Amino acid sequence: MAPLPSTAVLLRRRPEGEPRPGDFEVVRRPCPEPEQGQLRLEVLWLSLDPYMRGRMSAARSYAAPVELGGVMTGQAVARVESSRHPGFAPGDLVLADAGWCTAALSDGAGLVRLVPAPKPVTAALGVLGMPGLTAYAGLAEIGRPKAGETVAVAAATGPVGSAVGQIAKKRGCRAVGIAGGAEKCRLLVEHFGFDAAVDHRAPDFPARLAAACPDGIDVYFENVGGAVWEAVLPLLNGFARVPVCGLVSHYNATALPEGPNRVPEVMRAVLSRRIEIRGFIVWDFPHRAPEFRREVGGWLADGSMRALEHRVEGLENAPAALVDMLAGRNTGKVVVRVAPDAPD
Ligand code: NDP
Repeated sequence: MAPLPSTAVLLRRRPEGEPRPGDFEVVRRPCPEPEQGQLRLEVLWLSLDPYMRGRMSAARSYAAPVELGGVMTGQAVARVESSRHPGFAPGDLVLADAGWCTAALSDGAGLVRLVPAPKPVTAALGVLGMPGLTAYAGLAEIGRPKAGETVAVAAATGPVGSAVGQIAKKRGCRAVGIAGGAEKCRLLVEHFGFDAAVDHRAPDFPARLAAACPDGIDVYFENVGGAVWEAVLPLLNGFARVPVCGLVSHYNATALPEGPNRVPEVMRAVLSRRIEIRGFIVWDFPHRAPEFRREVGGWLADGSMRALEHRVEGLENAPAALVDMLAGRNTGKVVVRVAPDAPD
């Protein structure tokens, strides 16, 4: 064993607004050989997720930020390259918080073996991984959809939103997807089987959303906030549930929006229509993981549930791909092929 040539992406600057390539630095540095009790990972696929924008900021959040000069955080599918750890052998496939790098040392803590490995293996980062569980658990615990109800979700072609809509259909609901652009809306209906799709960039978006939800909205799975939330609020039925999963339209914001203070209007709606709004983080619901894997795994296997991936080639392209995802220039779960020979 010897040090392994390796590439890593560091956070150099905390962005103001939209992140820029200069906020990152790509460095080459050898990954040392593992000591006793350690193993060395070769990163195959890196997951890019909207939460990473939050980790670039020092603002108070539910998780600590990446240090300046530190390796960007991220989950990966990796292969054990060499091991001096009794529990892992070279060639093992694992899910690891390896970060944005081609090789990393680990003491084995937190590694999840991919046995059997899903097909494609990248599903472990998407529909069968953290985003899939987010959709499944948030909907089950907070959305609590009942047959015949209308479930609306935005960022609907992404890994969370597409799972929300498809699970809602499984529960006998009407699924309404909100996405940016005609092509994504077409995918929602034709590929994912949503009942209706609405383009949030259309100038008459609120009217189109109202037309797509003739019986109002019973569950709004909140992924984006902003103008979409404002269009949804008047449509929420009595006793509607709103799992607040993400607010991606605000992640690059540097100030509050201009305009009147809308808090009283929102609170009046919450009170008079008895709307339940509750935020959550995926790790609040670990007890849902076994049934999630069983149900969603079964639906994927029998072809009644679908996933879409947006693949990016090469670790050095990860910074631009994160910027693109936050602006909606991805269609599906963003994964980066880090190792040229990464298996599907
Ligand atoms: P996506 O792959 O869906 O990527 C984000 C999408 O957000 C973009 O593709 C874009 O889709 C949409 N978007 C960006 N800006 C706006 C805007 N101004 N208005 C409306 N839509 C916008 O991401 P994920 O499926 O991975 O994540 C979805 C949400 O879930 C995020 O908010 C994320 O932070 C959250 N999340 C929360 C977790 C938790 O534990 N609470 C765990 C995992 C994810 P489009 O082009 O269609 O507008």
